[in-house]
Amino acid sequence: MNMLTNHPPTEALQAIDSAHHMHPFTNGAALAEIGPRIIKSARGVWLTDTNGNRILDAMAGLWCVNVGYGRDSIAEAAARQMRELPYYNTFFQTSHVPAIALAQKLAEIAPGNLNHVFYALGGSDANDTNVRLVRHYWAAMGKPTKTAIISRKNAYHGSTMAGASLGGMSGMHAQGGLPIPGIHHINQPDWWSEGGEMSPKDFGIARARELEAKIAELGEDNVAAFIAEPIQGAGGVIIPPESYWPEIQAICDAHEILLIADEVICGFGRTGKMFGSQSYDIRPDIMTVAKGLSSGYAAIGASIVSDDVAQVVAEAGEFNHGYTYSGHPVSCAVALENLRILEEEKLVENVAEVTGPYLAEKWQALADHPLIGEATIRGFMASVAMTPDKSARAPFEAPKGTVGLIARGHAFANGLVMRHVGDRMIVAPPLVLTKSDVDLMIERAVKVFDLSLAQIKDEGIYR
Ligand SMILES: *Cc1c(COP(=O)(O)O)cnc(C)c1O
Repeated sequence: MNMLTNHPPTEALQAIDSAHHMHPFTNGAALAEIGPRIIKSARGVWLTDTNGNRILDAMAGLWCVNVGYGRDSIAEAAARQMRELPYYNTFFQTSHVPAIALAQKLAEIAPGNLNHVFYALGGSDANDTNVRLVRHYWAAMGKPTKTAIISRKNAYHGSTMAGASLGGMSGMHAQGGLPIPGIHHINQPDWWSEGGEMSPKDFGIARARELEAKIAELGEDNVAAFIAEPIQGAGGVIIPPESYWPEIQAICDAHEILLIADEVICGFGRTGKMFGSQSYDIRPDIMTVAKGLSSGYAAIGASIVSDDVAQVVAEAGEFNHGYTYSGHPVSCAVALENLRILEEEKLVENVAEVTGPYLAEKWQALADHPLIGEATIRGFMASVAMTPDKSARAPFEAPKGTVGLIARGHAFANGLVMRHVGDRMIVAPPLVLTKSDVDLMIERAVKVFDLSLAQIKDEGIYR
């Protein structure tokens, strides 16, 4: 029996899954108890599971399915490329048409002087590339001591050794001997949780100045780069105060360090501009891209590198780095078709001018709900902070994430994929979400918050 065309019923699949499949970011024993929800197919913004339930995917998979599910033209582009040239490498002085065409396209749409593409398979390994690239760059510039990389607590930059080290997730650092040497973390611009009595504006500036203090502490001669997401995604959609990025940019300009914008989530329209850097007037030396680059239809990531950095690296001899599947032809063909759709259907403009403002109005109104403290949104990434006391911005009297997990459960049960990060609930829907989809999503979200509030009152968590 071919399981792909004729699969056993859900319970049997769940048993096989728990017998043989190790899941990322999952408690395996706990999952074996309940069994995973198994997604069978998807169209537009809708998932269908093996029990026939339809679920509105307000997370676009893992923040990646920007053009929505079920795009035949992408499937055709992949099939065509598989027949023409399923694989060839880009090592050893060879290239191929899809890698060339996509590099040209990325250079065209990337801001400023970001005109050079080094391919990876996703965001994590693109960030590994960045670590080696910036150190190699400074060595080539005659400054081999500039190796330290400054990042932020609660940032997410992937799951490889370097990616997870750059990230500031304490749970990840607790396993596997991380962070690797040479990575330093400053505090995040999360005003809701950490801003205390300060105004958002003053707090944004104070948090940005931690970068300057860290550069001084390490010594400018020892610092290679600062890396940050324009808006932290996996950290809980932490939208920084407007004062934050201008101050960070000024500090980077005043010091001899490279700025890496991790655009893996923000890129390709999510913030209402093609790149998050454009939403915040950030001028990065390198951008990390993945996720929305292919809308998740194939595995691909990249570092998009400035003229200056690329030229120094090109003249520095061989860069001893690369992946077997760097610039995979099928992934590049998929990405090109995805970008064509993004542009032709004006999805980014739509987020900026039509559905984004509509969603923003409805999303911000969630702050009136008794469970919700703040409701923040930029483009098509949004979050709410749940709290028992809005004015004090207080946490619950339960371990962090307890209420988030309860709310996520109600969301799943009510046909809505929302994610929880601690006690924040987040959404990042496909960019094709329509106004009527927005209405349905908000209606379901309100129901989720009503049910969650009732449950935590029952359980004595809400006081
Ligand atoms: C998802 C993500 C990554 C990691 O990308 P993978 O494709 O999972 O390796 C890196 N940076 C950010 C900002 C991300 O959201």
